[in-house]
Amino acid sequence: MKLLEGKPIRDKRRQELADVVKQMPVTPKLAIIQVGSREDSNAYIKQKQIFGESIGCVVELFSFPDTVEVEVVVEMVKKLNSDVSVHGIILQLPLPPQIDAQKIIATIDPLKDVDGLTSVSTKYLWENKPWHRPATARGVSTLLRESGISVSGKKVVVVGRSSLVGKPVALLLLHQDATVTIAHSKTPDLASVTRGADILIVATGVPGLITQGYVHQDQVVIDVGINLVTGQKYEEEVPGRLFTGDVLFNEVKDKVLAITPVPGGVGPLTVLSLFENLIDAVKLLSTEAGKNGV
Ligand code: NDP
Repeated sequence: MKLLEGKPIRDKRRQELADVVKQMPVTPKLAIIQVGSREDSNAYIKQKQIFGESIGCVVELFSFPDTVEVEVVVEMVKKLNSDVSVHGIILQLPLPPQIDAQKIIATIDPLKDVDGLTSVSTKYLWENKPWHRPATARGVSTLLRESGISVSGKKVVVVGRSSLVGKPVALLLLHQDATVTIAHSKTPDLASVTRGADILIVATGVPGLITQGYVHQDQVVIDVGINLVTGQKYEEEVPGRLFTGDVLFNEVKDKVLAITPVPGGVGPLTVLSLFENLIDAVKLLSTEAGKNGV
């Protein structure tokens, strides 16, 4: 079994990105909007701040209480859209249920949409035009490429169909000439579907969903899930760790060709991809498209 670790790939790219940032005429700046104060969101924001600052970017956090009116956040996004010192804007998800995330995302200038979630970014992903790709999808693609795993002609099964992860991953790999199947919670006999994959990508948020009956020995398994778990079963699975993936790692790892750990697999590459998108945004904003809008 080969362990597909994201951290060494991220660290190699970190130095390259730091060199790129040094040569840039402006300092790339990312604005992160947070509503509420979920513990997991705080941890992800911290990771983004640490990575961004380590490559010479500015990362500014705009926090709102979960009682905020959505219009107040929308106004802040509009301000950030017209602030020339800001090159990327992200809304840290998930939001409290009473806040309309779509309304906020729809306000983000697509040129600054470094999470690739606006309708313009989605259209360009659909059409396979170069643009900001959702960070996790770009991270999965980077992981496969840097691990020397070719996607073209392979049977890829993506479990999960969210707009944030499942669908963008599936589309990105489809554009790389994979034959893609998307499975979800209504897929009957999921195990027989996942066993048909050369590359299995799991993004469900269901800890330990994929057990050894779902995989085969020639398979590459990419576990996107990051789940905070406290149950006895998972403490045994990953002793001392609070996070686990959607794959029951210890049970599956020796039954497959290659597998990502959680944490330390896709997660670090999602953060990397966000800043690759930010650097692309700086370049894009300085072009004619950037000056004239999309
Ligand atoms: P969502 O809850 O938005 O989507 C989950 C998807 O999984 C849905 O499409 C759902 O199907 C499907 N699903 C749920 N249960 C099952 C099941 N029993 N069998 C098959 N499919 C199922 O989650 P996200 O896509 O936002 O996130 C998925 C996971 O990825 C989470 O653990 C999240 O924390 C993690 N994540 C990790 C990132 C990283 O950087 N590594 C970044 C972002 C997310 P249906 O549509 O039918 O309901």
